[in-house]
Amino acid sequence: MSYFNCHGCSLCLLSCPMWQQQRDVQYSPQGLFKALQHNASHDDIAPALFSCLLCGTCDILCPENIDITETIKTLRKEAFAHGIEAELNKKIVSLLAQPSSELKIEENTIILPGKALRTKPMRLTKIQSLLSSVADTALSLDDGDDIALALETGIEISEHRLHNFLEPLRAAKRLYVSNGHLLKSLRQWLPASELLALGHSLSLLSELTKELNHNDLYLIEARSFHLDHKQKITHYDQLRHQQGCHMNLDLQRNAIPIAAGGLNAIKPMLDSKEQARWILSGHNIQRIIVECAEDEVVMSQVSDLPILHIADLMEA
Ligand code: SF4
Ligand code: SF4
Repeated sequence: MSYFNCHGCSLCLLSCPMWQQQRDVQYSPQGLFKALQHNASHDDIAPALFSCLLCGTCDILCPENIDITETIKTLRKEAFAHGIEAELNKKIVSLLAQPSSELKIEENTIILPGKALRTKPMRLTKIQSLLSSVADTALSLDDGDDIALALETGIEISEHRLHNFLEPLRAAKRLYVSNGHLLKSLRQWLPASELLALGHSLSLLSELTKELNHNDLYLIEARSFHLDHKQKITHYDQLRHQQGCHMNLDLQRNAIPIAAGGLNAIKPMLDSKEQARWILSGHNIQRIIVECAEDEVVMSQVSDLPILHIADLMEA
């Protein structure tokens, strides 16, 4: 379904972070699509187009089944082709041009932890050990952060860069990926491998989740949650009922994103601290537990409560 099928029901506004922050329908899929139906130019829609977090909340709400996040990526690509956001385009293209790591065949199970988690080597070692119960687990040499940014903006990735990124991963039977957006594409590129969200995989380990309690706010990583919403909602509902913890779920059981990583990290269009305050509001809690390391940084800027990564529950 294309944006021409948008009938303006407004359901996509319910949990859209752009709408929540701007309170202006232009900053929503509905606003974008209605503008395009009335011949708005890429220039007209650029502020909203580049504010979108690609969190995927709207994808699961749209009754017309419009693939909203894919549509936004295509529109960004077209906007770049019109010379809009030229500096941003240049920056991502230059990141893609940087030499990638040497090719090396790795283990059966590989983790792509992302930049933020790599700053905590002890935590990373703990995660490796937690996920190594069946097979040895290696860290990828390359997180593909530049590729994830290119995917968010529709920028073309050269065959050479993609080859260097994917080749060391091809032998792996299972990959744990922290970036929910990259995970979506890796499932297409590596169909023979089992591709799992890192945070969600840790949330399946009872030795960690038994430590959660009713004073905790547990922050689900929004992008990977919305990617597999039907399967994951049952798991998180059970976890919430068993442990009594709070979660960043709204009334429609969509995960409210913090806006800490991805494109918004290199070109902030939405205020991640405001997102964090929105998530915290109404919760009477004593600890914050995060699946995503980027979220930890933002939460620490708006809250004095202890903040733990889910892997840290091992020693809590
Ligand atoms: S992906 Fe998220 S930020 Fe973007 S339009 Fe949809 S709900 Fe809003
Ligand atoms: S939910 Fe879908 S059909 Fe409804 S306004 Fe949003 S994009 Fe349009």
